Amino acid sequence: MQIMYRSTRSETEVTASKAILMGLSEDGGLFVPSEIPQLTEPLQELAAMSYQELAYTVMSKFLTDFTEEELRACIAGAYDSKFDTPAIAPLKEADGAYYLELFHGSTIAFKDMALSILPYLMTTAAKKNGEDKKIVILTATSGDTGKAAMAGFQDVPGTEIIVFYPKDGVSDVQEKQMVTQRGANTHVAAIRGNFDDAQSAVKRMFNDKALKELLAENGCRFSSANSINIGRLVPQVVYYVYAYAQLLKEGAVREGEEINITVPTGNFGNILAAYYAKLMGLPVKKLICASNTNRVLFDFFETGDYDRKRPFVLTSSPSMDILISSNLERLIYRAAGNAAEKCAAFMRDLAEKGEYQITASMRDQLVDFRGGFASEEENFAGIRALYEKTGYVIDTHTGIGNAVYRRYAEETGDRTKTVIASTASPYKFAAAVVRAIDPARAEGKDEFELIDELRAISGTPEPAAITDIRTAPVRHETVADVEEMPATVLGFLGIRA
Ligand SMILES: *Cc1c(COP(=O)(O)O)cnc(C)c1O
Repeated sequence: MQIMYRSTRSETEVTASKAILMGLSEDGGLFVPSEIPQLTEPLQELAAMSYQELAYTVMSKFLTDFTEEELRACIAGAYDSKFDTPAIAPLKEADGAYYLELFHGSTIAFKDMALSILPYLMTTAAKKNGEDKKIVILTATSGDTGKAAMAGFQDVPGTEIIVFYPKDGVSDVQEKQMVTQRGANTHVAAIRGNFDDAQSAVKRMFNDKALKELLAENGCRFSSANSINIGRLVPQVVYYVYAYAQLLKEGAVREGEEINITVPTGNFGNILAAYYAKLMGLPVKKLICASNTNRVLFDFFETGDYDRKRPFVLTSSPSMDILISSNLERLIYRAAGNAAEKCAAFMRDLAEKGEYQITASMRDQLVDFRGGFASEEENFAGIRALYEKTGYVIDTHTGIGNAVYRRYAEETGDRTKTVIASTASPYKFAAAVVRAIDPARAEGKDEFELIDELRAISGTPEPAAITDIRTAPVRHETVADVEEMPATVLGFLGIRA
């Protein structure tokens, strides 16, 4: 069965490889699979597979125009010793919940799960489609995507990668990781604005015909490494199936027993992948969407009203400081009965009025989701409580998932086994984590002293990604206004307007 990819805003339909190459549809819509393929293999069979085998089994169902040889080569190149454990995504039980550790890749956040394979998928897709232009990856980041994308695309022939991050919206470690990035084809700029400003400006550049032509004249084309690219979403489906398979293998669930999945959410990509896993037939009951103080998604699930007209708050979970969750568009499209015209109208309202309201029948389509949010205090208290009870240390993003899940379980009495997506290593947000666990220990210390504290507290080894930034020289120093972003791109590429 051939799966095609349709735009959420028009009748455009392309192959998987074309969708990966394009990133975003020309009408501004996101690509969605024409159909969700089913997990036809018995779960026991999946439980016996390695991460790589399972990745092939799941991804081959979505990326139907890749040959077996092509896809297996992509998977082998991506999920190798760049990960610090052969399990790739280990599952750890602590205080009755299962933490799916998605941070064992080279930049120690879950973005590595998809961004270590995206460059392989994209260069394969370029070859398949006879694309001879240089691929320019344009990325807005709330902190983790940018680094993971650069690590993935560093010195990949035929590509340039350009990353924009909000100057005051990322952690010290995140910023240091980005500005020390190596590679002749990597470019980074801090912008004076927040993540939504950066993401919206990047989307505008994708849709700017004149800019596109100028690039084409210079032998370049844009693509995206943000989670709007279907090549990000599909690899993320894999680890939810893997998590279930591990639970089954350990005897923690019976075959077919439903689980809940809690995901600390920003751009709605990670949780959407969990939803796709459920739609494939994975036994999942509730998808718990956990937000920080920027609780626009919680309010949406409560009321059916998506309203971004509110103050943007900087929190200790910066990768979730987002008011425009791009991937929600894919869910809206589905809830609207795959009606591109309706979906496009909602997105127009969002762009023009900052708000849209879905219908009651669309809300009925969202029963699998449950929204929740946690304040800074609840987040910190939860991190501390988990540590004191079990010795297990989680980061401030996973902490939001943790706090929301614990409150949900208490309020509903739902005792369904729950997987919590653990999206970053605590080392990446060491300052906030040490402050959460023992504020006195954090006082007056610089970022690397805090990392030393965390090592003592957690008893876990310092990841290579951290050791690396202790000494790596700064290579990127560009700072720009949002309006200057197109000029910055041309400057990086050496193109004169
Ligand atoms: C990106 C990110 C998130 C949010 O994921 P989305 O797919 O954007 O919802 C959560 N935690 C961390 C650590 C991240 O890097």
